[in-house]
Amino acid sequence: MRYFVKINEKDNVAIAVRDLAADTEILPGLVLRQDIPQAHKIALRDIPEGGEIVRYGVVLGYALSDIPAGSWINEKMLRLPPPPALDDMPYGTNIRTDLPKAPRKTWMGYKTPGGYAGTRNILGIQTTVQCVQGVLDAAVERIRKELLPRYPNVDDVVAINHAYGCGVAINAPEAKIPIRALQNLCQHPNFGGQLMVVALGCEKLTADMLVGPENNTPENVVVLQEHKGFEAGVSAIMAMADKKLAALDKRLRQELPLSDLLIGMQCGGSDAFSGVTANPAAGYAADLLVSEGATVLFSEVTEVRDGVHFIASRCRDAYTRDRLAAEMNWYDSYLSEASVDRSANPTPGNKKGGLSNIVEKAMGSIAKSGSAPIEEVLSPAQRPTKHGMIFAATPASDIVCGPCQLASGIGLQVFMTGRGTPYGLAAAPVIKVCSRNELAEQWPDLIDLCAGPIATGDKTIKQVGEELFSLILDVASGVKKPWAEKHGLHNFLCIFNPAPIT
Ligand code: CA
Repeated sequence: MRYFVKINEKDNVAIAVRDLAADTEILPGLVLRQDIPQAHKIALRDIPEGGEIVRYGVVLGYALSDIPAGSWINEKMLRLPPPPALDDMPYGTNIRTDLPKAPRKTWMGYKTPGGYAGTRNILGIQTTVQCVQGVLDAAVERIRKELLPRYPNVDDVVAINHAYGCGVAINAPEAKIPIRALQNLCQHPNFGGQLMVVALGCEKLTADMLVGPENNTPENVVVLQEHKGFEAGVSAIMAMADKKLAALDKRLRQELPLSDLLIGMQCGGSDAFSGVTANPAAGYAADLLVSEGATVLFSEVTEVRDGVHFIASRCRDAYTRDRLAAEMNWYDSYLSEASVDRSANPTPGNKKGGLSNIVEKAMGSIAKSGSAPIEEVLSPAQRPTKHGMIFAATPASDIVCGPCQLASGIGLQVFMTGRGTPYGLAAAPVIKVCSRNELAEQWPDLIDLCAGPIATGDKTIKQVGEELFSLILDVASGVKKPWAEKHGLHNFLCIFNPAPIT
């Protein structure tokens, strides 16, 4: 039985594979000085006060006091190092050309005009403003019951409800982010190019701004203030939905190359195993997808910030490196304006799961980007123009990263978790990968794939990565449904708005 996992030969700490008792001899001559909780760090050598604490071959921090070998190292015992400098980061020094070959070359998707293919066939009803949600939700309930059964090729009807649209400083420079997010959500590949908008009539985010004046027509937009009361509003929405559903019902899946597939990766509720098991397995699956031309987004700026130099080394050119630095700089300023920094990221659960600080969390988080070259860097909610591995800047918050990546057009999200979260999206399926066996046992009807056997030595990263690759294509093709989709677990779409609310 394995006691601990050490990642890099330079590491002077390792993490406990399970709860370990004091006095256990984990290596010849190395005896634990105290109980060590699962996933927490063990000092493998004596570390003097001020000495480096090294995991992933990277300095996580400096010891605040002497730490004898065999001690438990928790988040209170180390000082955070400064973040890596963003000026003149070397680029192009780690461009991999020998990615592992994908065992499958095609999938079954819905071809969508002018973009990536859909993984589901959904009527997405957009909203300009939160005010319409009550009426729209009532209409959607009736659409599901009365109309949807008549259109067997349509999977679902989803209201794109959000908190933006009015009471906001819509001309503030950073308002471009939420506006772009909502504009791009209208174009999501799963909605098949069928525009449908419910507006109020007096909001700041007008239908013109949302879908463009050319699309702001009675065929695409219901304005509630133009209808005579609740029943009339609901009837107008249903009449439009009926037409859009009839058009969507003609969509059929077809065999497509992986280059028509766009997916996103994110992690949430991470623990110290996330960077050893689930995220590296996701990274391997990403490498397989990219090897056949698929596009994979990874995000979460504060969880890349401390590993940004590793990502820069994978950028093909100075422009991409500069875009990466610009997104990091923007976020540094965004945080500093509110008198915080990246150290505001880790949660109490992350720390309970053995993650001492943001450096340790970031090293685990970037593992999900695999090893392919970085082809492009996107601002929040932008759509990719290139194929391959792409950094799409978003907040790390699960419920904000999700809508940003949806706006970028992901047909599916792969979500790695260590502590466990039932997170889901209504407009695209979410595959849940857990980092340790105990969570898979605790949540058998929420976790889709367990990467825990990598920590115990029962499976390799390659094996779990190949399983995940296959699961991604099965879910994208509609052959399998992940648990969150089966249960209908959907989080509210929290649109990233760094601009003021009025
Ligand atoms: Ca997250």
